[in-house]
Amino acid sequence: MEKQKVIDEKYIPDVGSQVETIDGNDCLITNDAMYTFYRRTKGEFSAFFLGLRDEKRLLGCRCTRCGIVRVPPFLTHCPDCNFVPTEPIEVEQVGIMNTTPPITYFATSLFQHMAPYGRGRVIFNGADTAMSVNLYTTTGILVPGIIKKGTQVKLVFRDKRIGEMTDVFCVPSAELTREQIKKKGLQESEIDWEAPKEPSLPVASEEDMARYRRAMDEMRGLIEDMNRNESARKAIAGWKRDILVKTRGGQCAILIDDGDINVEERELSSPDFIMVCDDITTLLDGLAYRGAITDSVINKKIWISKNMEFNTIFKLDRMARFLVRSRKTKDPSSESS
Ligand SMILES: [Zn+2]
Repeated sequence: MEKQKVIDEKYIPDVGSQVETIDGNDCLITNDAMYTFYRRTKGEFSAFFLGLRDEKRLLGCRCTRCGIVRVPPFLTHCPDCNFVPTEPIEVEQVGIMNTTPPITYFATSLFQHMAPYGRGRVIFNGADTAMSVNLYTTTGILVPGIIKKGTQVKLVFRDKRIGEMTDVFCVPSAELTREQIKKKGLQESEIDWEAPKEPSLPVASEEDMARYRRAMDEMRGLIEDMNRNESARKAIAGWKRDILVKTRGGQCAILIDDGDINVEERELSSPDFIMVCDDITTLLDGLAYRGAITDSVINKKIWISKNMEFNTIFKLDRMARFLVRSRKTKDPSSESS
C-alpha cells in the first residue's frame, strides 16, 4: 500500500532563493523550514475511535445515574449528575438529521478532494445527543433538498480507516436497500455509487434543436480558443475526463485530455460522468464566462452523475475565466466593447 505523508509533497517548497523589491530595496528571500511534527493521543476517547477503525461500531456513553446517552462519548462523567461516571454503550448506525445540513462546495485544499459534502448533526437511534458527520448522496451531485432536517440517514464506514471522524459518513437510508440499512458496519464499497438518478429531458421541438445547433457552433469556437490558450490549458493539465452532455436539443461529448479539450457531436459508451442540462445555453454561458457552471450545478440547472466530478466542473469554470482574462490583457480595447 502506498504510504501517505503527514505533509503533502506539494506543500514542501524547493531549495532556492529569489530577489523581491520591497520599498525600493532588493531583498534576498530564501526558502527555509521549521519542523514541528507531533504525535497526539486520543486519550480516553481511544475506545470510540478504535471502535470505528477496527470493529465498525458506534460507541457512546451512558450516565450511570440519569441514563442520558451521549454520542460521541465526549464526557467520562455526567455534569448533570454531580459528575458520576458514564459507561460505554453501543448505539445503532441509523439516525435522524437534527438540522438541515449546509453543503460545502468550495473547501480548503485540505478538504477539496471530499467536496461537495454536507455537514450536519445526526441523532443515532439509542442516542440522546447529535453527532456531527459528513453527508453524501448516491444519486449524483449533492444539492440542497436531498438531505434535510428529519431525513433518516445511515452511517457508512470508509474502506480505509485510520481512527478519525472522517472514517465515517452518512447517506440517506432511502437510497439503500433494506439489507444495507440493517447491516452493521456497512462499508462504502458495498454501496452502488454508479447508479445515479438521471433527470429525464422533455422531447425536443424544432426550436430546441435549432437552439442546440446555434449553441454548438459557439461552443466549438470557444473550445478551440481554450485549446490555443496556455493558461486555460494549464487548468486541465494532468486531467483526463470523457463527459457525455445531454441537453434537450441534442447530445455531445466534451473530451478533456491533459491540457487538450475537444467537443464532438457523438455518443459516448462509457463516459467518466454524465452532465444533464435541459437548455444547452446554460452550459454555453458557463464556458463563455457569462455565469459560472458551478453555480448552475448548485442551482440544479445542470445535473452531474458523480458527486466528486464537481472538481471537473470547477476546472471548466477556471478555463473560461482564464480565457477571458488573457483576452483582456492581450487586447485592452476589447474590455470596452
Ligand atoms: Zn447524568
